[in-house]
Amino acid sequence: MAQCKKCFRPVNDCHYCNGGRASSPIAGKLTCSKCNNTGSLCNEHGGYWK
Ligand SMILES: [Zn+2]
Ligand SMILES: [Zn+2]
Repeated sequence: MAQCKKCFRPVNDCHYCNGGRASSPIAGKLTCSKCNNTGSLCNEHGGYWK
């Protein structure tokens, strides 16, 4: 399981882009500012775990 590079806690699937699987087919590629396009979110650091 992926973990945060800052706090080393497990990251959760990003609920803004459904864990990197964007539901909208409009955008060709995933661009989620919440998780920094990683599909995962740290509770503390958001998408800046990578
Ligand atoms: Zn973190
Ligand atoms: Zn996201």
